[in-house]
Amino acid sequence: MSKPASTPTPENTQLKDIVAHAKEYGFVFQSSEIYDGLAAVYDYGPNGVELKNNLKRLWWEAMTQLHGNVVGIDAAIFMAPQTWEASGHVAGFNDPLIDNLDSKKRYRADVLLEEKAAEYENAGDPARGAALTAEMGRLLTANDLAGVRQLILDEKIKCPVSGTGNWTEVRQFNLMFSTQGSAVDSDAPPVYLRPETAQGIFVNFLNVQKSARMKIPFGIAQIGKAFRNEIVARQFIFRMREFEQMEMQFFVRPGTEGEWYDTWKAARRRFHEALGLPPEKLRFHDHDKLAHYAKAAVDIEYEFPFGFKEMEGIHSRGDFDLTQHQNLSRKKQQYFDNDIDEATGKPYGNYVPYVVETSVGADRLFLATLCQAFQEETITEGEGETQTTKQRTLLKLHPAVAPIKAAIFPLVRKDGMPEKAQQIFDDLRFDFRLVIEDKDAIGKRYTRQDLIGTPFCIVVDGQTLEDDTVTVRHRDTREQTRMPISALRAYIGEAVSFKTVFAKL
Ligand code: ATP
Repeated sequence: MSKPASTPTPENTQLKDIVAHAKEYGFVFQSSEIYDGLAAVYDYGPNGVELKNNLKRLWWEAMTQLHGNVVGIDAAIFMAPQTWEASGHVAGFNDPLIDNLDSKKRYRADVLLEEKAAEYENAGDPARGAALTAEMGRLLTANDLAGVRQLILDEKIKCPVSGTGNWTEVRQFNLMFSTQGSAVDSDAPPVYLRPETAQGIFVNFLNVQKSARMKIPFGIAQIGKAFRNEIVARQFIFRMREFEQMEMQFFVRPGTEGEWYDTWKAARRRFHEALGLPPEKLRFHDHDKLAHYAKAAVDIEYEFPFGFKEMEGIHSRGDFDLTQHQNLSRKKQQYFDNDIDEATGKPYGNYVPYVVETSVGADRLFLATLCQAFQEETITEGEGETQTTKQRTLLKLHPAVAPIKAAIFPLVRKDGMPEKAQQIFDDLRFDFRLVIEDKDAIGKRYTRQDLIGTPFCIVVDGQTLEDDTVTVRHRDTREQTRMPISALRAYIGEAVSFKTVFAKL
């Protein structure tokens, strides 16, 4: 899709609608918008932060609470500069960049080629797309940057901004942000903002293993910010310069990594399906070019409005990271395994464990969730002569992650109804995030809640004052159920519980 982002295709029209919706209803704002924004940096609004926190909490509990052998940490963003030498980020872990001489815009060469491959695929020629990504993988693995450039020329890839194929050489760049490490010593080495959260886990491997008395196999989970000076600032929050990762490094006995890779690959896909991403919009994509640390790697891709793109990566990293840290720090990163090896009849003994990693971007999961939930439908109201149809826009979010679980509407602002609504709010606020809405006609209030994905609207009316019952209106079906106020906690609780997702894992 190396066409200008403004080309009015159905796909990007839909993304445009989602971006506008996200802003208007308090999900995502461009950072520093009053100063015309900062490229590829975004802020989450009142509804966005609730949705994102719910997604993060769901992932966190699915990792740490559902698995007795996975514990969490929260490592600092700044790390000793040697960390990034050991990981390979300073020296070799670079991205191939190419500049267009006319627009002066810079692109990641691999991204341009992947977009071209996606274009073939969308045009019904997946074989040609696959051949292109395979060739790109071969050239990148061989570090043949001139070959990568030639491939861009052969494919006649044009700059989306200038529309020309006037390209520079392909060069390797380091995408890490750096800052001054010391306020007094200007010669002090720079401190980097971490480009991935994984290293905070690797350097704490023994601290966690010993303090939490973990036995292999075990995992360490972490949610945190990561920073990359990404130059492809398109596609909304898909590619940001400051983003959040949810990573879990699973430490295993060498030789068992293949089984664990398969296990986590399947488990992670189930997670996305349980959250409501339909199976046909998810797919596995094996890496054509393996990173220097990886023995096997697969992406879980979701079909965003701009095509199938990576949402999560699952990597079999071998002992690369721990060995690198062991060599550079001169501190042993070994585990003593006293389980008996049946082949020798002796304990497995000391070794550097292998790692299987699952790494998902909280922002990409958020975007997938939002794209999936965003729906426009035609609804019919009334019957016979009075029947009318209208369009409605709604977010069909899974109730477990919806920002607000229920809105309480006093039918009118008098006769004791507002007080009754307040009583219900007070009674349920320890359990759920709720709002009271008393402005405008009921229909308008339903519309407002549909737009932010609130699963239930509770209406307090004249009958409520007589018999303590309310109507509960369902977002997706628009059906209404009358029930006693005393039944609300269990009714809403059942629908919004994380258990509804966990049960499908
Ligand atoms: P891509 O190829 O799309 O740049 P990557 O392969 O470099 O991604 P990883 O290093 O595997 O990504 O990071 C793991 C996850 O972190 C990704 O699957 C993605 O969800 C998220 N992620 C990576 N880079 C960004 C970014 N710039 N903005 C938002 N999320 C990101």
